[in-house]
This record gives sequence, C-alpha cells and structure tokens, in this order.
Amino acid sequence: MNTVGIAACHNYDDAAVKRALAEALRPCGGMGKYVRPGAAVLVKPNLLAAASPDEAVTTHPAVVKAVIELVQEAGGRAYVGDGPMKSPLPVVAKECGISAVLEQTGAQLLSIEKAVVFHTESGSLQRSFSLSAEALNMDIIINTAKLKTHNLTGITAAVKNCYGLVPGNMKKYYHLRHPLPADFAELLLDLYLAVKPTLSIVDAVVAMEGHGPRSGRPRPVGALLASADGVALDAACAELAGFSYEEICTLQAAVKRRMLVPGGGNVQVKGPLQELKPENFNKGAARGGYSFLWRYFPSLMRNMQEKRRPWPVIGSRCTNCGDCTGHCPSGVITASPARDRARIDYDGCLRCYCCLEICPAGAVQLAKKKPSRER
Ligand code: SF4
Ligand code: SF4
Repeated sequence: MNTVGIAACHNYDDAAVKRALAEALRPCGGMGKYVRPGAAVLVKPNLLAAASPDEAVTTHPAVVKAVIELVQEAGGRAYVGDGPMKSPLPVVAKECGISAVLEQTGAQLLSIEKAVVFHTESGSLQRSFSLSAEALNMDIIINTAKLKTHNLTGITAAVKNCYGLVPGNMKKYYHLRHPLPADFAELLLDLYLAVKPTLSIVDAVVAMEGHGPRSGRPRPVGALLASADGVALDAACAELAGFSYEEICTLQAAVKRRMLVPGGGNVQVKGPLQELKPENFNKGAARGGYSFLWRYFPSLMRNMQEKRRPWPVIGSRCTNCGDCTGHCPSGVITASPARDRARIDYDGCLRCYCCLEICPAGAVQLAKKKPSRER
C-alpha cells in the first residue's frame, strides 16, 4: 500500500505552510526518515517560467521555503534547481520569489545545464535519458511540484515535474520523438522511475485550473500533499481535482504497468482529501486520456486520440515576441514584424502544446478542428 499524506493549508503564510507540510509528511514518516545529516538534497520545484507566485504557474516560494527548512532541520544541505523553458534559472528564481527564499535560508541555486546519458533498466518505452548531471550528483531529490491542469497530459503534478531535469533542447527532442500523449506519458513514467525522487510534495494550496500549465486560472484548493511514491501522489491529486485515472495519461500508463490499481486500491490517503475537493474544478480543454477502453482497444483508442486532440491557434494577444518559434520541436512557427501575429504551419504541428507553455502573453488557445490554413 502506497501512503499519501494530505493536510489542509488555506494560505501561503510561512508558518502555516510549514506546519501543514509537517502534517502531510507525518503519515510518510516525516522528513527525518528521508534526509540523513550531511546529505546534499536537491529541492526540485516547478519553475516553468518567470511568473509571479500569484499566477500559480510555479511552486509557491512559501512551500519551497518550508521544504528547505525541514531538510535543514534534518541536517541536510539544501539546493534548489530546475530547468525553466526559456529564461536562465537566476532570472526565473527572482521573479518567482525563490531568490528571496534562498537569501533567508542559505540554500543554494543549482542550474540544470550539463547533460549526461543515464541508463535505466526500469524503462518500458525508453531505457536511456539525457539527464541533469547536477541533479544526479545529489544524494537525494525532493520533487516539489505544483498541481496544474496540463493540455497534453491532463494534470502536471509529481511525475511530470521530473521533466524539468532534462537539460536544454532534449526536452524538445523527446516531444518530437513521442508526439502522442499515450507515448509521451510512458516516457514521463520512465523518466520518473529513472530520476527516482526520494520524496514528492505537491503544492495545491492554490492550484491552476483550465488552460494549464501556463495560462490557466489560479484556483484555491487549500491542500499540501506528500508521498514517497510520486505515482500514488498523482493519483491522489487526480482524485482531489475530480479527474478519473483514465483522464490522466501518466496514470493510465501506471495502471498498464500494474503500478496502480484502477480505482485507487493500492493508494492509502491519510488526511482530509474528500473535505478539500473543490467543486467544479475546470479540467481544461484537452484531457490526457479518454476511457477505460484503452485497456482493451489500444490501437483504436490511439487513432481516436490522434483525431480528437485539439489544435493550437495563435490569437490576437500575440505580440510577435518570437519566444515560441525557438521552442517549437518541429520548427513550424514563424514570427515576423510584418504580420500581426505569429503563424503555425499545421502540416508539421505535433500538437505537443510547447507553444502554449512558453507563450508569455497567453495568446495560444486550442481549437477542436484543424485550422484550414496557416494562421
Ligand atoms: S506549433 Fe505548438 S503544438 Fe505545434 S508542434 Fe509547434 S509547439 Fe507543438
Ligand atoms: S504566440 Fe506567444 S510566444 Fe509566440 S510570438 Fe506570439 S506572443 Fe510570442
């Protein structure tokens, strides 16, 4: 049985967050069970982009601070690292409130830059990954994620958060290699098992609903969750936000590998999950999965998934900044000052939604039908 702890926390007051985090960790054995004195500990938040903590794009600094303090109280040496999509980590850390936390706690910033090839026997789809050398040099990793909707995978929480440990352009390459959500989910699960965070924590004090992971709405949920098992933790997050396992690709993949029992039979949640469930959580337009039929008709469902996935459309909020052009894995976006907005050549579009993640203006929306021409 995989234990997940959940505690109520309704604001980002430092003391309240630390108290709630300790409470969520208690059923899992407490921080001292995982951090030995002197250990180098990578605290890995979601620092997707330079955004204010109020936007709920990134793990809130109060949660990162509480994790660091509990690590230090257990005798560990804390580092904070992630590989943001575009801006250098110090720039993102400043905007997201993490630099102030580093000053207060004495923890160090760790840029995810150097790639090494890491081989793993546990991989189902992929057995070698380009991973951060800096992260692999740590004694343990504490995965400190944010609960958000995600147009490709359904939600992003513990498992998806490990993708930030893939340095630089390899993130684009993996999207290019595995464009279908079902395949990309297998890759994410392989990657999670390769990284093997010792502990995973999810900030759902304020989650993101709707058009996530970058342009959705902040949604107060009032929960902090923790588990040594990131898959079980994601299952609890899915239940909290009102998703079935079938709607989350990574959970479908975990069920297929018998890591999860459909319906949550091998996940034991300790804490007030049912009481904290928000009403009418907006799950967004593009859910990761479709139904239990995946188990019986995988080829049929793959075809259906391919047909039903929505298409990105660049709207009038586009400022022609060009950020998405360099981050599109298939290089099908062009931006030019001569036009009012950037354009997508749909014939090469993978529907990976990286453009949606990177766009600082929230200009990329989703449409059910393939647009008939470049727009
Ligand atoms: S246009 Fe957007 S969704 Fe299409 S391949 Fe490029 S980044 Fe991915
Ligand atoms: S779609 Fe967004 S990221 Fe791309 S050029 Fe327009 S504003 Fe920039």
